[in-house]
Amino acid sequence: MHRWPLEDKPLLVFYETTKACPLACRHCRANALLKPLPTELSTKEAMKLMDDLTGFGKPYPILIMTGGDPLTRDDIFELIDYAKSLGIPVALSPAVSTRLLNDDTLRNLKGKVSSVSISLDGARPETHNYSRRTALEPIDVFKSTLEVFRKLREYGIEFQVNTAVMKLNVHELPQVFKIVKDSGANAWEVFFLIRVGRGMELEPLDPWESEDVVQFLYDASLYGLPIRTVEAPFFRRVIMQRNSGVKYVGGKLYQELVASLRELMGEPPINIKQPSFTPTRDGYGIIFIASDGSIYPSGFLPLTLGNVRKDNIVKIYREHPVLRSIRDARFNGKCGICEFRNVCGGSRARAFTELGDPLGSDPACVYEPPMK
Ligand code: SF4
Repeated sequence: MHRWPLEDKPLLVFYETTKACPLACRHCRANALLKPLPTELSTKEAMKLMDDLTGFGKPYPILIMTGGDPLTRDDIFELIDYAKSLGIPVALSPAVSTRLLNDDTLRNLKGKVSSVSISLDGARPETHNYSRRTALEPIDVFKSTLEVFRKLREYGIEFQVNTAVMKLNVHELPQVFKIVKDSGANAWEVFFLIRVGRGMELEPLDPWESEDVVQFLYDASLYGLPIRTVEAPFFRRVIMQRNSGVKYVGGKLYQELVASLRELMGEPPINIKQPSFTPTRDGYGIIFIASDGSIYPSGFLPLTLGNVRKDNIVKIYREHPVLRSIRDARFNGKCGICEFRNVCGGSRARAFTELGDPLGSDPACVYEPPMK
C-alpha cells in the first residue's frame, strides 16, 4: 500500500468555504451564522488557493469543502469543477437542510465529489434535533438525515457519517453505530468535543469516559465498518494495545456500551481485518483554511499560522515551526515521553484550548507512559 508522505503534504485540506449555515448546531466549531461574512474568500481567491495546493505535487491532498454549509455558496459547483479540472479530489461536508441538499444537488454532485460527510449525533430524533437544531424553519433534521442517507445510496455517492460525542448522547452510541452501518456509509467518524466556538455550551466526556468510548469504538470496528476519531488520536494507542492482545476490562460506561453493541449486532464476525489507521493529527496530515483565508493546524485549533491571501500554503505546511514540532512529535508533558507519541500525539487542539500550549499533553488521555 502507498504510504502518504505526511511530512511533505497533508492528506486532507479542510476549507471552510463559508460560515453561513441554515443550522445552528449546539457544538458548532465555526460559530456558523445565517449570512456569510464579508471577509470570506471570493471565487477568485478560492481558486488561487486551489492553484497553490497543486504545489504539493501529485497525488494531491483531498480538499474537503466544509462550512458553515458549503451549499449556501452560489459558486460552490464552480469551485468543485475548478478543483476537479486541476485533478484535486474533492469531498463535501454539507448541512442537512431539505432546501439545499435536494435531488438536483445530489444529481449534480454525482461523479464530482469523492465523498460526502453527513452528521448524525443521536439515534433518536430528540437527541439529534436538540444537537443539530435549525436556525430558521423548524424541520425534523433527524428524519431528513435518514432520508439523505437513502438518497446518497440511491445516487451512488459515497458517504461517511460524523458523530459528535458528548455526555448528552454517549449512551446512544451503539444504536448510532447500527444506524450508520445499516445506512451503507463507508466510514464512521466520531468527534470528541473541543471547547471552541459553540462547543463551549455542551459538556464533553471526562477522561475515563473518553477512554471507555474509544475502547468501545475498537469493539465496534470489529464489525467491519472503518471507524476514525477526531480529536481523540489516543484511539490509535488503543488500536495498537488491543491488536497486540492487551485486554480492557473498562468502567461501567464501557461495559454498558459493549453489552448494548452485542445485543444489537451479535458477536463480531471472525477473520475480520484488525483495525488500522493513518497517524494524522492536527497540523500533521491535516491543515485547515478558515473562511477568511487564515491557516490553522486544524478546525479545532484556532492558532493562526498565516493566511492564504498572502502566504503560500505549501511553504507554511512544510516550514512553520509549530507544525514542524507537531510533525516531529516534540511535545511537552506526558505526550512528550509517551511511546505512542508518533502514532498518537494527543489532541493538539485540546492541549491548546485547555492548557494554552499547542504542544502540551492531551488532558483527555488517561494513559500514563512509563517513566524513563
Ligand atoms: S499520553 Fe499523549 S501520546 Fe500517549 S497515548 Fe496519551 S495522548 Fe497519546
